[in-house]
Amino acid sequence: MKDEKGLREQEDLILDMLDRFLDTEVVPHVRKLENDDIYPAEIVEKMKAMGLFGCTISEDYGGLGLPTTTYARIVERLSRTWMSLSGIINSHLIMASAVQRNGTQAQKAEFLPRFATGELRGGVGLTEPDCGTDLQAIRTTARRDGEAYVVNGAKTWITNSMYGNCIALLVKTDPTAEPRHRGMSLFLAEKGTGFEVVKKLPKLGYRGIDTCELLFTDYRIPADRLIGGQEGRGLQQILSGLELGRINVAARGVGVARAALEDSLAYAQIRKTFGKPICEHQAIQLMLGEMATRVEASRLLVESAARAFDEGRRCDMEAGMAKYFATESALSNATDALRIHGGYGYSKEYDVERYYRDAPLLTIGEGTNELQRIIIARQLVERNPA
Ligand SMILES: Cc1cc2nc3c(=O)[nH]c(=O)nc-3n(C[C@H](O)[C@H](O)[C@H](O)COP(=O)(O)OP(=O)(O)OC[C@H]3O[C@@H](n4cnc5c(N)ncnc54)[C@H](O)[C@@H]3O)c2cc1C
Repeated sequence: MKDEKGLREQEDLILDMLDRFLDTEVVPHVRKLENDDIYPAEIVEKMKAMGLFGCTISEDYGGLGLPTTTYARIVERLSRTWMSLSGIINSHLIMASAVQRNGTQAQKAEFLPRFATGELRGGVGLTEPDCGTDLQAIRTTARRDGEAYVVNGAKTWITNSMYGNCIALLVKTDPTAEPRHRGMSLFLAEKGTGFEVVKKLPKLGYRGIDTCELLFTDYRIPADRLIGGQEGRGLQQILSGLELGRINVAARGVGVARAALEDSLAYAQIRKTFGKPICEHQAIQLMLGEMATRVEASRLLVESAARAFDEGRRCDMEAGMAKYFATESALSNATDALRIHGGYGYSKEYDVERYYRDAPLLTIGEGTNELQRIIIARQLVERNPA
């Protein structure tokens, strides 16, 4: 167990290394990879070597064992450079968190070290063609057959499922159960016969990273891959991982909001109209002032939620607030950045058009922002009984 000083030193080392890596090995390639929707295979190999696939996995299992506060700073930096890179580790680490928090000893020993190196990597398979927010309506089933379960159904929008090799798969083991969540279970599904990647989905933004449709046809999964070894706990297991997911989406929001601000700040000092840099026009100053405040407030909300998560406190409200505010900030900052850049904002020569295409996803993924506000309101009532 490291003390506070040890943790700070470790964080400084990792963040310095990451900044150098992003500046030299990622920035020069982002526009081409994003524009052509190319999976960044070489960059992913380097991220594996840096240990990023094990950021939040305990050192006992070969991970870096970083606190969530440090992880959020890593995610902010990755997203400031290219949001898709952060997606490559984010849902992978939600899968790892589900095992670390809920897995049997044997599952932890078998899977966590392989997740930490990135030998096994992937994400989470929850959403189906007919449901995303209402997860209890999923229709994919897993029926027990001897020492295995037989899975049938379809999933969609599953990130990291084409180039990855394992997903945390949410299914119904008892489709008739009431309440519905009692019939839901979570499995570690490695690719094999009956697990088909139907197609990679074309997207507005968040390009380069693979998001796919999946089909399961009599896919056999060994019974010991049922996370925690007991049926009926899948929804609660994945929801506990989604708190971490929401903190990391919020941190992505900080990264995109910051990118939009920094690019705008630089541009506004160079671009001149009516004989002076546009940063001297009050209309631009109002936007810059608001953008900077959004970044700062978002970062503080993320830090507060991450600290609560690290201390093991219930933080669905805090993570919801951070997710909601930081991702709306990313969207607003991306829009303002486009305005500040004028016609050039609409051009592929600048990165702001990418922020404008990437930001909306953040308001949808890991629970839409409508859902976040509902979670916040419910928690407000629960924590403040009249
Ligand atoms: C690029 C991308 C990557 C993704 N990656 C993954 C992944 O890796 N794994 C995965 O499982 N999923 C993934 N998703 C799916 C994502 O999590 C869902 O799209 C999201 O949860 C919303 O579900 P939905 O699209 O079915 O929308 P719906 O649930 O149909 O919602 C439609 C609208 O109704 C609103 N709404 C729904 N219910 C309520 C309510 N009770 N009250 C008020 N408003 C409500 C929603 O806020 C939204 O505005 C990804 C999606 C995208 C676009």
